[in-house]
Amino acid sequence: MEISEIIIAGDTPGVEWRLPVFRFKGRRPEAPRVYIQAALHANELPGTALSHFLLEKLRQANADGVILGDITVVPQANPIGSAQSHFGELQGRFDLGSRTNFNRDFPLISLGGRDNLLDDLDRHSAMDRLKRHLLRMALGADLVLDLHCDDEGMQYAYIDEAFWPEAADLAAALDMKAVFLSDGESSAFEEAVGHAWKNETEGRKKTALPGRLSVTVELRGTRDVYPETARKDAEGVWQFLLGRGVIAGPHTDLPTFAGKVVPLDNIEMIRAPEAGAILFHRDIGESVKAGDLVATIIARPGMPDGAVEVRAPQDGLIVTRVSTRFARRRSDLMKIACAQPSGAVRKPGTLEA
Ligand SMILES: [Zn+2]
Repeated sequence: MEISEIIIAGDTPGVEWRLPVFRFKGRRPEAPRVYIQAALHANELPGTALSHFLLEKLRQANADGVILGDITVVPQANPIGSAQSHFGELQGRFDLGSRTNFNRDFPLISLGGRDNLLDDLDRHSAMDRLKRHLLRMALGADLVLDLHCDDEGMQYAYIDEAFWPEAADLAAALDMKAVFLSDGESSAFEEAVGHAWKNETEGRKKTALPGRLSVTVELRGTRDVYPETARKDAEGVWQFLLGRGVIAGPHTDLPTFAGKVVPLDNIEMIRAPEAGAILFHRDIGESVKAGDLVATIIARPGMPDGAVEVRAPQDGLIVTRVSTRFARRRSDLMKIACAQPSGAVRKPGTLEA
């Protein structure tokens, strides 16, 4: 095992960022290579806790000589975001300096461009340098897990259709309740990895990528950071790695994935019709019917007509909910996974900014 640090010069004098990277050398060159990172959105720590317990298991596996494929783990991928405390609150999703989402604007390159990602780094800001380092590491692997979480959420993942249904083993191993099939049309980390693989050969875009996987895993909500769930999730990743032949050892057959599988177009993003206090009537994990009351917004407190009802547009499963209890007009309240496409207009790419 090798623990190294990537050092990234800050954009102001006297600052530099250090990013610990854990590498395990596999014994079999033909075994899948793995890259796992957590907390790219720096306030999303369930994956960091998972990584801590997974690394404990990997150190033991390394001592036992059972690691077959190369494994790289970056348990806290965004030191720049981790440092952004703004009036006492961690701002882990957007870079305060450039106003960009830490998980957008990854370079969309072909796999062959990997070797040039670190050329002329002086031309790039610290944030872009970090993104280039992370993408470069991921493109050296076959299986890429980017560990995130939602606000309040069930266990689910964004998976490009190109990897489905092969990736059902990961969904089962992590006991996911839903999989959102994405169209690979954004510049999020996971999709930049998929983009490079699809464009491996110049002019011939691949649509299926057997043996490869790049996924954004949403490990429940931001507050769901507990020893029990972190150990359970680490065990889930462990079973996935055993099943894919990255680690040698006895493994039980994973159960068949029984969660919902829905294209992004079938996610109803429930938005607040007006500003006000949010009273949720329904929780994550609950199934709703079309017309069910899911929330009340107290738009004009004390007024006879001050409460505004929010109802489910169609039958579905409530996968996420915001944790704030104040809504601005049109702000997100819930994601409901449904059987039919949403009637709302959706731009290609990610659901959220
Ligand atoms: Zn995230």
